[in-house]
Amino acid sequence: MEMKCKHCRKDLFNKEPIQLLTSHGEIKQNSTDIGCGSTNDSESSSYIATENMPKWIADIVNQESWTKGRLNCPYCNNRIGSFNFVNEQKCNCGQFITLPVRITNSKVDISHK
Ligand SMILES: [Zn+2]
Ligand SMILES: [Zn+2]
Repeated sequence: MEMKCKHCRKDLFNKEPIQLLTSHGEIKQNSTDIGCGSTNDSESSSYIATENMPKWIADIVNQESWTKGRLNCPYCNNRIGSFNFVNEQKCNCGQFITLPVRITNSKVDISHK
């Protein structure tokens, strides 16, 4: 899967293979796969497993000492997501704990390659 910033159109993962996960921690099969029927599509997010974080995300998380903050595009600084290692956040259905690193789908273009 490829993910581009919607604002500057740059590839956020430098063509590295990246696995995007749904709010239920399942690997997304396509960009519209949100994993949960109770998630509102317009505010749906993709999640990245901590062990698979690209370096630029790991750097931001390290800067904040693994607490919480926002993820901005490394090229244009537009906000594309957030992270929160402090509080556990539940999926809208209340049954699943979501991963700490979250990308807002409406801020990026995800294409399936
Ligand atoms: Zn950008
Ligand atoms: Zn759910």
